[in-house]
Amino acid sequence: MGKKKFYNPQTNIFDFRKKQARSWDWYDKIWKTVNKCAFCDLNERYVIFEKNGIVLTANLYPYIDAHLLIIPRRHVEYVKELTKEEWDALRGIMYVAKKVLRRVFKKKSLWFLYREGALGEGQKTVGHLHVQVIPYKEGLVKWDYQPINWAPGEVGDRLKEEKNFMEGKYEKYILKYGAYAQTERRIVVNCLIRNSKGEVLLVKKKISLKNQWETPAGSVEGDESLIQALQREMKEEVNLSIKNVKFIGIEEDRQRVFFEGGFEKDWNLIFLNYTAEVKSGRLKAGDDTKEAKWVDINKLQRYKLSNITKRIIKKLFTF
Ligand SMILES: [Zn+2]
Repeated sequence: MGKKKFYNPQTNIFDFRKKQARSWDWYDKIWKTVNKCAFCDLNERYVIFEKNGIVLTANLYPYIDAHLLIIPRRHVEYVKELTKEEWDALRGIMYVAKKVLRRVFKKKSLWFLYREGALGEGQKTVGHLHVQVIPYKEGLVKWDYQPINWAPGEVGDRLKEEKNFMEGKYEKYILKYGAYAQTERRIVVNCLIRNSKGEVLLVKKKISLKNQWETPAGSVEGDESLIQALQREMKEEVNLSIKNVKFIGIEEDRQRVFFEGGFEKDWNLIFLNYTAEVKSGRLKAGDDTKEAKWVDINKLQRYKLSNITKRIIKKLFTF
């Protein structure tokens, strides 16, 4: 190779006079001489998008303009080694890659070249599962390096500007096509507890979607009655026994829940809303609740409330 360095991925210096990537011979050289796994040692500068341990990155040795790679963070050789969440994220990122390449580089069709197996197997240059994302070019029938106009760093930087677009597409994928995107309907009992000082009880959940305050609530489980569910939830969430329970109406809401494994679920929640007073017990946040406190009704505006809590309060009080 000597002094004929046309493109250096480390410095992102690129000589546009020499765009024939095949003539670099860098790519061939690397798999013959480098012992470590290049994909375990990803250069973060080129990472475009990432979900659940699956990365979309610019290919440092592109066959063609806007050639990307999808790579698991973990060193796995075969698809059977991926967790189901990783596999689903990989599918989602294939979807995102297609959409973003169409948007930015006007690439209408792509080839996804899925590569698995050990180093050298099928001329594989990296023994780390990956998917080549190769914009299709009319009439191109053989694997060869094409002249390119964009350095990989430029491709990466340009696509990174589309973060919001990609997030939106990924969300659409998850909800519409994702393996864990099923909607689940749940019945939730929800209680606005009041005290004699004109205060209402608000809680902040441990897994709060938007760091909001809300009235204590929980799902009806097994064959328990609604009132049993309500009493159990109030005991679990705020450590209180309740009395003078009154039903005040139904509300419907959709919420997206993010699980620890990284997958997501859309809940279609039916809220059965009640008011109640404290019968006994000392207020204490427990179970799914991170924080609980009494709030003066006239000071509610200072709190970021959940949609449902807002609707109930609007129904009961006028300001
Ligand atoms: Zn690796």
